[in-house]
Amino acid sequence: MSSSLQDDLVHASHRLYSTLPAHGKPVIRSNGTPEWSILATTCIVVPSTTETSGNSHRIVPVSLGTGVKCLPYSKLSEYGDTLHDCHAEILARRGFIRWLIWQAGLYNKFTKGEIAKEEESFLDRINGKFRLKDGITTWLYTSMLPCGDASTLYTSAHQSAEEALQWSETDLVATATPPSDNTGVSRGRSGYTSTSTLRTKPGRPDSMPSISMSCSDKIASWSVLGIQGGLLANLFEPIYLKGIVVGGVDTPEAKDDLEWKAHIKNEMERSIWGRLQTIQDSLPYPYILNRPSIHVSSVPFQHSKTSIVSNSWDNALEPAPSPLSISHLPFIPPPNPKKGIKPEIIADGGILGNPWKKGVLMKEKGRSRICKFAILQAYEKLLNEIKEYYEEEPIKNAQSYHEYKHHPGSAYQKAKEILRGTPKRGYTMKGLEMYDNLLSTGIVENTSLDKPVDSGIPLPPLKGWLVSGKNFESFTSFGRIIQEG
Ligand SMILES: [Zn+2]
Repeated sequence: MSSSLQDDLVHASHRLYSTLPAHGKPVIRSNGTPEWSILATTCIVVPSTTETSGNSHRIVPVSLGTGVKCLPYSKLSEYGDTLHDCHAEILARRGFIRWLIWQAGLYNKFTKGEIAKEEESFLDRINGKFRLKDGITTWLYTSMLPCGDASTLYTSAHQSAEEALQWSETDLVATATPPSDNTGVSRGRSGYTSTSTLRTKPGRPDSMPSISMSCSDKIASWSVLGIQGGLLANLFEPIYLKGIVVGGVDTPEAKDDLEWKAHIKNEMERSIWGRLQTIQDSLPYPYILNRPSIHVSSVPFQHSKTSIVSNSWDNALEPAPSPLSISHLPFIPPPNPKKGIKPEIIADGGILGNPWKKGVLMKEKGRSRICKFAILQAYEKLLNEIKEYYEEEPIKNAQSYHEYKHHPGSAYQKAKEILRGTPKRGYTMKGLEMYDNLLSTGIVENTSLDKPVDSGIPLPPLKGWLVSGKNFESFTSFGRIIQEG
């Protein structure tokens, strides 16, 4: 890749962010505390066909997300109507899924001759499955190293001694089996010097625990499962990231710039696909171990923590993470066309200004377009539009989100099992035992914990993954919960 594509991806992402209104972006609080956030985009790169333009590609950012917050376990909703994880990378990817559904609908209109204005379709359908047109690649840009495993080394090099003390080894939370068994999950940055460790999202040591896995772990799982998700795996070939551009990487004073950047790139590669290489030959078709190219950039994002600190007065207050997130889908027509395309501002898992109550389905205007519930509704609408192509598919009679994702013979679920193992009781993280529905993944079925390699299937590299369980996916698009049994 030429270095210009890498830079263009950063600039296209920053440009899109700069077109958004100030509302929802980091602010300076009334007490003078400045806020910071993380920006991420999912972009497609389309090969350019025009001879006249010097560029050989066109960058289309299809989804933008900002944010650094996630909901604690106690606030998760079983209706799929809240966003559990509002880290920028995760929102950018969920928005991409929403974009794919819209694109599939558009493709269908084109083939039926119901052309929708000048909208552009980037999809093809081969052997009944959608995919991006030949030559189109998918990229992730993030303004900071993803939290968790990939940023472990970077964080420890930049962390002050005082901060490091907060995360002493005694904070280490492991699964019920001893950590030597490699099933341990670390909470946030505890034990921050150990690498290739599954981690939950960071939070203050005294905060309510979150069970969201870190962005490093989630992005690593996309290297096997693709970024289209389990629902769309029914209709799409897996879509893998061609590359990841990480911005805002600073070099500590004592280090050589080039060497340090190479080191960070190696760390990303180890974390995003290197630690999964043991299973590369065990994956079911069409799943593979994808190795996205990694590009490290020092271009700062205007609202990153580092930018905020360097632009502050010497005696300014310590910056705080913004409590808000933004999700922006610049192409998807809004529910009310008169209002135009607007970004969503997300607080507490829903649209800002719409408080919700646990146990009650959130009102439509409070739900994000990229929450599981809204994605299920859009998916069912699409299924209905394209039903003539899928007479024989096992996805027809499903009702709940969980059933759509777990139909028999799903290669996606098989690949996921090889990657993470199967969810089991009894491996709950310490401190979360009271949450009955929370499971942690163990060993692949039919293998014993002591001699897992006898079956010929390697140990799941991401075993220990925390799963909120079927109870949080048994909702229907009508807002009902399907009871077990
Ligand atoms: Zn993150």
